[in-house]
Amino acid sequence: MFLTMEHLNKTYPGGKVAVEDFNLEIEKGEFVCFIGTSGSGKTTTMRMINRMLSQTSGTIKLNGKDISQIDPVKLRRQIGYVIQNIGLMPHMTIRDNITLVPRLLKWPQDKMNERAKKMIKLVELPEDYLDRYPSELSGGQQQRIGVVRALAADQDLVLMDEPFGALDPITRESLQDLVKDLQERLGKTFVFVTHDMDEALKLATRIVIMDGGDIMQVDTPDGILRHPANEFVENLIGKDRLIQARPSITTVGQVMLKDPIATTPGKSLTVALRQMHDKRVDSLLVTDEAGILKGVIGIEDVDYNFNSATSVGDIMKTDLFYVQSNSLIRDTVERILKRGLKNIPVVDEQHRLVGIVTRATLVDIVYDALWGDEDEDEAENNIHHGEDDAPAEGGEQA
Ligand code: ADP
Ligand code: MG
Repeated sequence: MFLTMEHLNKTYPGGKVAVEDFNLEIEKGEFVCFIGTSGSGKTTTMRMINRMLSQTSGTIKLNGKDISQIDPVKLRRQIGYVIQNIGLMPHMTIRDNITLVPRLLKWPQDKMNERAKKMIKLVELPEDYLDRYPSELSGGQQQRIGVVRALAADQDLVLMDEPFGALDPITRESLQDLVKDLQERLGKTFVFVTHDMDEALKLATRIVIMDGGDIMQVDTPDGILRHPANEFVENLIGKDRLIQARPSITTVGQVMLKDPIATTPGKSLTVALRQMHDKRVDSLLVTDEAGILKGVIGIEDVDYNFNSATSVGDIMKTDLFYVQSNSLIRDTVERILKRGLKNIPVVDEQHRLVGIVTRATLVDIVYDALWGDEDEDEAENNIHHGEDDAPAEGGEQA
């Protein structure tokens, strides 16, 4: 086991019991989120892992070794740590900020330079930013640097305490994507504190739900949504999370319409137009001969380009949104709603077009989730739903 916490207790001087008999085992490569109300002991638990606090009783083992036997300074250098309120050092360049811990670890200069370059590349900023000062970067860029700084020394374990708490939703989302992507690519183990259930569901491989210093439930995001352990967990999840009310449906693949109407890039605009007309749709997805999703064309594109272009491939839009068939429905709902899409194509792991999810499908699911238990007539008044509203299969694309 990579990280083991056994019978951890923490009572602060003055008598406040912050953590009580906390037990958890974390495997290498896991992304564990601690979530709970304010004061539930999340920060206290996290700070005991790198010995910024010492426990009142109980043991923590890292790679089988009791951390109380490891020099705290050495231990902390093995563990990346990001806290919301400790930003970048204002009088150090980005390079020096990134290599803060490697410098403490006395890495040779060229190794540090290599590392700084790699890190700035990971956050998709130009290399010459390494010589700038934090104030010359936007807040969002500084945050991204803060994230990679936590990974710069190549530690296996990274602790993050509400790192994105104060950010606007868009920056927050892009940093979540960054963290998740880096974690998966670099194979690090994360312990991440949040009070945002959406964040936990998005990032975690396992979620630890805490209340008053106790663990209420430990499970995968899916497990928690399907089987909340008690009322506290149910309330934390919230009633609006669709999956909970209809647990048999979890992935896009299970609700999508199969055989969406599609054409190929080589087809002429005349043929595409006829196909739209025959199938009564106002757009067509475009796939190559192997069924790989390539783009989309709308009726207005055909109309506008009819005299200048000859084939579907000439005018199709290639930057379209799509989801994987194994994505969770709730994420897809979010995407569709956020971007105002009427529908979204679904691809498999080889990027082959396998289906389409329409707004109408989602209305059905939302309807079931919110009002499924209620009297039919009453529910009907609450949301538009039914034959009239729903377009025919695949009948309303893009
Ligand atoms: P969380 O991070 O989940 O919000 P904390 O771990 O910070 O919770 O705090 C857990 C409990 O311990 C809270 O009741 C808090 O007030 C208390 N606490 C935290 N730090 C101290 C401290 N230094 N001295 C006394 N009590 C503390
Ligand atoms: Mg805290």
